[in-house]
Amino acid sequence: MSDLSLDVFRAAMRRASERIATYLETIESRPVRPPIEPGTVAAALPDAPPIEAEALDVILDDYERLIEPNVTHWNHPGFLAYFSSTGSMPGILGETLAAGLSVNGMLWRTAPAAVELELRVCRWLRDMVGLPADFHGHINDTASISTMLSLAVARARAVPDAREAGLTGRNLPKLLVYTSEQAHSSVDKASITLGLGLDQVRHVPTDDGFRMNPDALARMIAEDRAAGHQPIAVVATIGTTSTTSIDPVEAVADIADAEGLWFHVDAAWAGSAAVCADYRHLFAGWERADSVVINPHKWLFVPMDCSVLFVRDVDALRAAFALVPEYLTTAERATTVDLMDFGPQLGRRFRALKLWFVIRAFGVEGLAAVIREHIRLGQGIAARVDSDPDFERSAPTPFSTVCFRMIAPDLDASTLDRVNERLLDAVNADGRIFLSHTKLHDRYVLRFSVSNLRTEARHVDMAWELIREHATRLIGSSRQGAAIQSEEP
Ligand code: PLP
Repeated sequence: MSDLSLDVFRAAMRRASERIATYLETIESRPVRPPIEPGTVAAALPDAPPIEAEALDVILDDYERLIEPNVTHWNHPGFLAYFSSTGSMPGILGETLAAGLSVNGMLWRTAPAAVELELRVCRWLRDMVGLPADFHGHINDTASISTMLSLAVARARAVPDAREAGLTGRNLPKLLVYTSEQAHSSVDKASITLGLGLDQVRHVPTDDGFRMNPDALARMIAEDRAAGHQPIAVVATIGTTSTTSIDPVEAVADIADAEGLWFHVDAAWAGSAAVCADYRHLFAGWERADSVVINPHKWLFVPMDCSVLFVRDVDALRAAFALVPEYLTTAERATTVDLMDFGPQLGRRFRALKLWFVIRAFGVEGLAAVIREHIRLGQGIAARVDSDPDFERSAPTPFSTVCFRMIAPDLDASTLDRVNERLLDAVNADGRIFLSHTKLHDRYVLRFSVSNLRTEARHVDMAWELIREHATRLIGSSRQGAAIQSEEP
């Protein structure tokens, strides 16, 4: 069998596009998370692949019956967990068209338009968020990979012959990376991957706003140097994963400068907010970084996956990764950009297309307006928490993600943790919204994060009412439970 006939393909594409539109139209009527037990989908799938070809309509029927209803709906307006990832309609179109092209952007020659568009949209994004013109951007799948690439350059700078000689079997000092105790685990995973090891990531303590303490950073570096270790990089975060706290980037940049360290800024989620000129002050100092990561798939309404790594010294990135076997040499290499030079992967998909569609279809002001509204909604939830005696805010709210917990002066800390956990379960069981949690100062805390394109004021209002309703019930029953417990012999 060759590929399908074009008539069959056209009909199936029409059905698929109608399906996506209906999905988006009806998404709000579904529970955000499917009410299924683990293994449900696996049990409905055949053990073996089909021997004979199956009709596309049959496959699409199964998609509608088995797959679509059984995903967690990240596009749902009630998705307030983690950091959301919205597939906006322009983004979905770009993703679909990229699949049609199926190009591999490893070399300029293998995908001229994909390579040139990627470089241009990354430049657009750089200018949209106000990063200096000497930053060069390229697209990776995730921030975890972007950060890993950045730290690979840091490692290459610290041990220039590591590329040839590697790190093992030689007498090297410990190569240390500094980041805050609130940093994303991708810094630790990068260290595992790069052969530095988890023990070589120093987690700098944070202040009561969950921001890296620069004095502690300076002290730790001095102690490590005195012990004969070699600090190589520091990672600051603008918008940490638990609380969206903002490290004191200027102070960290001063230390990185003075110590000669590679300086990476993780702005994977919050970086999109720099599109709003009125929030740009929250990013002060990131222009001094050696590299910055922003994920348009987090808060810029580009469907998974799309992470932009900006690196100031693109030659250092190239020096770390460029390796050209004979079969990949081209006559035009000296005058073109080959994206394979920017990381270990050779093949890469055409992610720039969806970013291009999104930036053009919304316009910079359109994107900024949505983000501003998200921040307004998040601040509204923070204000409701603050004015409600049954709740407390667990962290400052610089953007649109609110950390909070129920409180009751007569309940002890571990009972309160259990009550908050039950609150999260109860609210999520309702199905209309999906919140996640974290731990701060070892206490269980709920996270309410507004960054989904489809989330409006009415969803946020409904979410708060739901939280309030369950809180009243739970506090009542916890007090009864505590009273019963205290009466037991
Ligand atoms: N950095 C921060 C601050 C994050 O919040 C996250 C994920 O939420 C990441 C990095 C990792 O993102 P990714 O899933 O793109 O690797």
